[in-house]
Amino acid sequence: MMDAQHISPDDLALYALQALSPEEMAAVRAHVSGCDVCRAELARAEGDLAMLALSVDQQPLPAGARERFVQRIKSESKAGAVENRRAEPIAIDRAPRSRSTGWIGWLAAAAALIVAAALGFEVSSLKARLQESESRMAALQTSESREKQVAEVLTAPAAQKVVLTAPKTPPAPTGRVVYLAARGGLILQASNLAPVPAGKAYELWVIPADGSAPIPAGVFKPDLAGNGSVVLPEIPQGVQAKAFGVTLEDAAGSKTPTAPILLAGAVQASGE
Ligand SMILES: [Zn+2]
Repeated sequence: MMDAQHISPDDLALYALQALSPEEMAAVRAHVSGCDVCRAELARAEGDLAMLALSVDQQPLPAGARERFVQRIKSESKAGAVENRRAEPIAIDRAPRSRSTGWIGWLAAAAALIVAAALGFEVSSLKARLQESESRMAALQTSESREKQVAEVLTAPAAQKVVLTAPKTPPAPTGRVVYLAARGGLILQASNLAPVPAGKAYELWVIPADGSAPIPAGVFKPDLAGNGSVVLPEIPQGVQAKAFGVTLEDAAGSKTPTAPILLAGAVQASGE
């Protein structure tokens, strides 16, 4: 009898659900690959499943769901008293079951399972999405208020602005000279000067424009902060200066500058 050689709809359905044991799966697969009748039946079963699955997000079954489902199928088939057997499972050691209770029963169970799983997923996915957007909002607000605070600090009139440098590299010494040649008036303000050794001092020089010898213009020592100054030293009037220089000399002062020149500055050519 031909029917006896085909796979039962129940088993095809279980096969489509991948709910059979590996050996059963293999047996059904082997038969279906060579049987048009069962292939058509399987396609119908898979179509039914696809219809169920189309309405919801495809999800892997939750842990244990497949086992519970198979148990349910088995108990249903045992309870099925009527043996309306149209097809006998081949090479599958399972009691034949009623088409009506089996097929429709498992289909309903499968539908319930898939929908329940999908609903559960939907809810948890919605919750997750909600939490995600909530935390994103919080992060946005945090960064927004941070940017605000940064802007407030940067633009506050009371904000102090400090340039930091490596402590090993002291700022370079600088000097500023104001010179009024006609009156022989000279003022030097220097800063960031290194301390002088004992018995030594800095000495300021006027370098005349006419190429004559540098004129000593006062000795000075920096204070603890490295600042030093020369104010109105006794120098000749009317000397046009080409440049000014500072050297390290004996504390009493020298008649001629000693190299090296520690600070030097040329007079800017002006329209005078
Ligand atoms: Zn067949």
